[in-house]
Amino acid sequence: MSDEPGQEIIPHVWVGSYGSITSKHFLETNKIQNVISVCPCDDTLTGYNQMVVSILDVAEENIMKHFPDCNQFIQSSIDKSQNVLVHCEAGMSRSVTIVAAYLMWKRQISPKEAITIIKQAWPSASPNSGFFSQLELYHEIDYTVDQTRTEYRRYLMANMAEEREMHGYVAEMTLAADPEFHNSSSYSLRCKKCRRVLVDKDNIIEHEPGKGQQAFSYHKRDSSLNITETASGDQGEINTSANVNASLNPLLASLASSKNNCSSYFIEPMEWISNLDQWSIEGRLDCPRCNTKLGSYCWSGAQCSCGRWVTPAFTLHRKQVDEMKAVRLR
Ligand SMILES: [Zn+2]
Ligand SMILES: [Zn+2]
Repeated sequence: MSDEPGQEIIPHVWVGSYGSITSKHFLETNKIQNVISVCPCDDTLTGYNQMVVSILDVAEENIMKHFPDCNQFIQSSIDKSQNVLVHCEAGMSRSVTIVAAYLMWKRQISPKEAITIIKQAWPSASPNSGFFSQLELYHEIDYTVDQTRTEYRRYLMANMAEEREMHGYVAEMTLAADPEFHNSSSYSLRCKKCRRVLVDKDNIIEHEPGKGQQAFSYHKRDSSLNITETASGDQGEINTSANVNASLNPLLASLASSKNNCSSYFIEPMEWISNLDQWSIEGRLDCPRCNTKLGSYCWSGAQCSCGRWVTPAFTLHRKQVDEMKAVRLR
């Protein structure tokens, strides 16, 4: 391993530590013209085309929302036959994650394959567990970071709950589109009283029914771990995002099986929820048309009648809504 502050990973694409941008020698010798600084970076580099992605090296940071812009920046540098340096502080986690995402997108490969390529030139490559999970999710959603993707919204939801718990508020609220206006699903839930469409099947978060009193106390104790921990991958597990999705994907079959025991549907935070803001921790869910109380929400979680604790919890009482399985004629 060399003592250089950066290395070329594939032609034109370099990864480096903070030392790489403070070394005029390094920048000039390697003909760097474009720089992505993946850290809160006050140093503007004169004479360089620089993009700053101001994030910390913590598992909870959403780094994947920056993948599309970074990919474009890297690609346009390559297209001009110019060199691009992606750096952070240590050159281990943030910068490596950005370069890995580019390789994945460009070559349609997995995170492991991308990291392996980077490690051959830059052995210290080591994204934090949360970033690695995001790369896994990126792979799963076909390299398209898009809120219309259910898996990505699940990730954002878990992230919001975690942020709510850590900081007391949610900086950027992501709400699922109102199916009243774009419902394409053949399965939906409507307000029993006024028939307004509330959610479609992608908005329903399936949970495994709990097992009586024991499940009750166990999940109560571990309430904050349910979704948030698996999403951030604190256990160092590599397939954490896959686990989250496996347990959360709304499947009609499991809906049917939980129907008998559960008094509530757990749903995503929806656009039509009127009393939801950055600071609120809990509140009612009222029908946006007739104002009937349909359920409630609590960022720190709630327990279903089956004993299962779900975090965060946006619930609709079964008795207030109707399931609709309709063939839409259009
Ligand atoms: Zn339940
Ligand atoms: Zn209603």
